Amino acid sequence: MTRFNFDVITLFPKAFELINNLGVITRALEKNLINVNLHDLREYGEGNYRQVDDKPYGGGSGMVLKPEPIYKAHDSIDKLPNSKTLLMTPQGKVLKQQDLLRWSSLDQLIIICGQYEGFDERVRCLADEEVSIGDYVLSGGEIPSISIINGLTRLLPGTLGDPGSLIDESHNSSLLEYPHYTRPLIFREMRVPDILVSGNHEEIKLWRKQKMLERTLDRRNDLISNEDYKKLPKSKRINRDSNEIMKFRIGNGYDIHRLVEGRNLIIGGVKLQHPDNLGLDGHSDADVLSHSIMDALLGALSLGDIGKYFPPSDQKWKNVDSLFLLSKVIELIRNQGWEVNNIDSVIVAERPKIKPFVELMKNNIAEILQIEDSFIGIKATTNEKLGPEGREEGISCHSVVLLEKKE
Ligand code: SAH
Repeated sequence: MTRFNFDVITLFPKAFELINNLGVITRALEKNLINVNLHDLREYGEGNYRQVDDKPYGGGSGMVLKPEPIYKAHDSIDKLPNSKTLLMTPQGKVLKQQDLLRWSSLDQLIIICGQYEGFDERVRCLADEEVSIGDYVLSGGEIPSISIINGLTRLLPGTLGDPGSLIDESHNSSLLEYPHYTRPLIFREMRVPDILVSGNHEEIKLWRKQKMLERTLDRRNDLISNEDYKKLPKSKRINRDSNEIMKFRIGNGYDIHRLVEGRNLIIGGVKLQHPDNLGLDGHSDADVLSHSIMDALLGALSLGDIGKYFPPSDQKWKNVDSLFLLSKVIELIRNQGWEVNNIDSVIVAERPKIKPFVELMKNNIAEILQIEDSFIGIKATTNEKLGPEGREEGISCHSVVLLEKKE
């Protein structure tokens, strides 16, 4: 079996004593599965003082590692046929399990550790890859480098007692690992799930797969692929959409009513006067603004439309005040655990002028929904004499609402 070689260029070789006390990694060293060669940067320093750093050109705080010692150290390392040089830097690509897997088929990794303010920019030319271990800044590249040695070594054949433990673990696929339990069966009233003690291995396998998907959805849904998502049983997918992860739902509503003689013209609970004495026809008061808001509210939670709750066939709703219906709809939304974040509506009417009444409409809607006026947007536009609204055959309204899940 070939050995994996790590060659590390560092100002603090002593920091690597840690790997002599890291269990599995230490055993890999002892079994000669890996070789860790430390190259003390100080030995390649310049002059009597073995200088390795200097002040930055252009001024500024801190010291910068000089390029010559790093290049010299790098030149001194025997390169194996399958070798890569990694530069530790918070500006690099963030390390992923897939990178460790990819590098584990090499023979050698040369790792350059920075210190202080970092290194001279020309050091970057030595690197095949620049690697960061996360979006935070450490004082040196030693801990990032030990992380890579540790993570890669445990992937090498012969390192882990049971290589099977690599298969399901987090980040191996795109999924996090399932929960583990060991004895006792009940600990401080927390019980091991029955399935794990059922002895039914098929069921246990399914349960674990399911937990991996659930966990990843809950904690890191950025990792989950479309493929994984398709594997979710239907019920879980619905749960995810309605309650578990989404904190917001958006809804869209549209309504149009015919302009006729002999009817009131009521929009947003405000009685308007049409120049030709026209009003809106419908079973209730035909208030297009309230109707479209109700449809948007119901739509946001996939609850259907107002026809389902207040059917025109039901005499109870004849000529009813739509603001009253709105109060019923908002009750339903709140009972489901959701709150209105904001509403945006646009009324399309050729005549009469809507704008002077917008504030009144807002007041009415805000009062029913018990939210601030400032979270309700109502705009009015004509249809430039085009279409049914333009020909004054009717008045329509579009609404969008955003619902927020209550804690
Ligand atoms: N001024 C530099 C950071 C210097 S930190 C900058 O803003 O980019 C000093 C050294 O610590 C770096 O050169 C690098 O080798 C190492 N280091 C710090 N944080 C790191 C991280 N998240 N990943 C990898 N290396 C890191």
